[in-house]
Order: sequence, then C-alpha cells, then structure tokens
Amino acid sequence: MGLGPLGADAVSCNTRVNNTHAKLLVCVTLAGVRSHQATLQAIADANGGVRAAGTPGYEQSVQYIVGKMTAAGYDVTLNAFPFTYVALPLLRQTAPLAATYESGTFTGTGYGEVAAAVTAVDIDLAPPRANTSGCEAADFAGFPAGNIALVQRGTCSFAVKALNAQAAGAAAVIIFNQGNTPDREPLIIGTLAPSTATIPVVGASFADGTALAQPGSAAQVRVEAPQLVTQYNVIAESRAGDPNNVVMAGAHLDSVLRGPGINDNGSGSAAILETALQMAKVKPRNKLRFAWWGAEESGLVGSTAYVAGLSAEEKARIALYLNFDMVGSPNHVFFIYDGDDSDGVGAGPGPGGSAQIEKVFEGFYAARGVPFKGTDFSGRSDYGPFIANGIPAGGLFTGAEGVKTADEAAVWGGTAGQQYDPCYHLRCDTYANNNDLALDVNSDAIAYAVLQFAMNTEIVNGQRGKGNFKMPPDEEDDHHGNATR
Ligand SMILES: [Zn+2]
Repeated sequence: MGLGPLGADAVSCNTRVNNTHAKLLVCVTLAGVRSHQATLQAIADANGGVRAAGTPGYEQSVQYIVGKMTAAGYDVTLNAFPFTYVALPLLRQTAPLAATYESGTFTGTGYGEVAAAVTAVDIDLAPPRANTSGCEAADFAGFPAGNIALVQRGTCSFAVKALNAQAAGAAAVIIFNQGNTPDREPLIIGTLAPSTATIPVVGASFADGTALAQPGSAAQVRVEAPQLVTQYNVIAESRAGDPNNVVMAGAHLDSVLRGPGINDNGSGSAAILETALQMAKVKPRNKLRFAWWGAEESGLVGSTAYVAGLSAEEKARIALYLNFDMVGSPNHVFFIYDGDDSDGVGAGPGPGGSAQIEKVFEGFYAARGVPFKGTDFSGRSDYGPFIANGIPAGGLFTGAEGVKTADEAAVWGGTAGQQYDPCYHLRCDTYANNNDLALDVNSDAIAYAVLQFAMNTEIVNGQRGKGNFKMPPDEEDDHHGNATR
C-alpha cells in the first residue's frame, strides 16, 4: 500500500516501533518489497540469469539477506546443508549455423564434453513421423565413430536408442522429441533407467532436433558430473521473545536453473524480508525466526535438512511455521493453504493448529474485502518437513503452472485459460513477472500474520497434537525425468 490512514512516511517508519497492525502495515509497502526483488533481479543479471542453489547467484542472494537482516539487528546464522549440484547441460549447434538450445540430461547419462559432427540416425521428419530411429543396431550401419548421434523419440525406449548409439561408437547422443502430437513437440528429458550410458545423453525439442538434422550439422555437448557442495539456509531470529514459543516465517530463496526466479520465489523472500525489517524495533512476546531456504527447487533440500537437524525439544518449541512461496503471480488468485481441509481436495488437514492459521489469513482478507480461496495443503513446498513433524503450518500462494478457470477470472480478473504464472520456472520469471495488487495485498497479509503470532499464538498452541493429520503420500515429479520412451 502507499500512504496509509496514518500518513506514515519513510522517516517515521525508520524510527518508530511498528508494534501494531496499523503502524506495521503502513510501513510494509509495495515499493519496499519491490526494491528487494529488483536487487535479486540484478543479482541474477550478474550471474547468467539464475539464482539456483549451487550457483553464485544463490550465494549472492544469501549475502543480500544476511546483510540486511544483520544491519537490522537480528541474530543471523547460516545453516549449512549438503547439496548435490547438477548443472544444466550445454547443447550448442556450431554448424551450419550457431545456436544454443534448451536441453537437459537424461537420468543415467554419462559425463563429458564433446564437439563433433552430428549424424542423424533413421529419423523421420515427415508426418506422421512414426520412426524407429536408433531402435535397431542396423540403424547405425556405417555410423562414423566419434560423431554425435541424433535420434528421434519413438517406438522403442530411450535406453535402447542411447545404448545402440554408444555401441556404434557415438561420442554423445541427442534425443529429440517425436513431433507427431502437440505434447511431443517440446524439449524432452527422460530417463535411461535402469540402464546407464557412459557417453553424454541430452534432450532437445522437435524443432531443435530438426535444426540439428540439417546436412553438415555439428554440435557441442557438455554434461558435467554432479557435485556434492555445501549450501546454506539463512536463519534470522529476533533478540527478544520467548525462546520456548518460536514463530517461524519462511520462503525459499533459490530459483530454478532456467530462470531468475523473481516471482518464484523472489516474491515470498522479499515480502518476509520487508516484514522483518519493518519489525526490527518491535519486541515480540514470542521469538520470531525468519528462514530463507536453499534448494527448495531441487526437492525441499534446505528446509528438510534444517528440520532434520532439530532435536525433539527444538521442534516442540516451534509454535508454528508460515510459508510464502509465490505471492505475486501475474494472473493471480488469492489462495490460502487449506489447513483444515474444508475443500476436501487432495491431502487431508494439516497438524492441529493449521486450521487456526488458515483462519487468521481468512480474517485478514475478509476485513479487506478481498476474495480468497483454499489451495491443497499438499506439503509440496518448505512447510512439508514441518507438518511431517507435527508442527502447525499455513501460508499463502497466488498460483504457479495451474490454469485459471473462468469462475476464478470472474472473481479475481486476469485471463481464464492461462497459467496463474505463465513464466513459471522460465527465463521470463523476471522483475516484470508480477502483479502489483497481489503482491501489495499479500505483503500486508504476511506482515499482519507475522505480527499477530509474534504477540500471541494461543489459538494455535491449544490445538497442538489434535486432529487427524496424516502425511500426504509422495507423488512422483511429473515435470521431467521419468519418461522412459
Ligand atoms: Zn517456489
């Protein structure tokens, strides 16, 4: 929001104690939150467009948070965890034209760097493209050893194609999508499992495979071996407050390897940062602990390691955990984690107390006259490890790759039939990938809930251990990595 009813300006926000909702919400401004996102964008720009765990862009994001929170007087620690960094592969065409293509490594790939001529193997670019590319050893008769084999998805498994190519002396394999149906146009990244190759095996889209199939084509392929590195979560605590009743608010700070991650999750990271900064002079009754998680995008790695590192007593001292992962999506809906399972969708209710957290957010939106809606409490962000340990949790979400319905567009505006975030996990998740209204309202909602629980968690404490919470079953990652043919 801009100037509120109190007309507070930047000067009074810097000097006064924001210990009421009225004072705090005037000082947590859209401009303040956006300025942190602008810094995260600048960090991405300086580091190849990404802030993923294991890259310098993540390290610098950590340093930014540490600097701000330390200067504001919080007790800041770096919480180390082991992380297996898997770099994106390089797929570059060098002749007859120069181009770099989006790619990914197949599970079961070998490692190395190869620059060689490309030999297409029994591909079929004319509809209906019902190829048997690389399925038979005979496809490789006369294959020039040391070349890169270009094979097309279809008929047999990826493993059969890759291992036939390897046996024929190929130095690397590019498997491109079949192109026979719309779902077989984009970049394909699958698995050779249970087989493994000793040469690099990477994916390509149908269009890029077609380009690589031109006569006289040559390419460079690089697949780096996974590296075990140490990464850090940022943990920052208020100096005041009851250490036996800790209120946590967290957001993942890392991006994916394919983009700068300014909505996912620069938005949540910036909103809790601005809330923390504007609360720096507040003496909370309960200990406030903010967390910026690393490697969420690789499977909640940082938050899982953090919770696993807590003793039973330390877990018991955490009254609740609030999670904010994507709170400014351009085609937004105001979603609240469905902690009480009132929607009856997907996973059941959260641990006792989660329903009360949901109610606090509902109360905020209702008072503002902002419509809201539940979203399945699935555990698929950093609150997952907390609820798995019985810690009550809640949070906000404005939508990712899901598609907005006509009913939702009628309530919240935006575009029906389009993703809530059309730039989800893409290069275009930049500073521009934002909805000001969504981020502004949610930044206030976050500040509201954090201050509320910083002062009083009774409604949640009384529910601890009650209810019939069951951890939702693990679901396979459906984005990539599992297709075998
Ligand atoms: Zn995220």
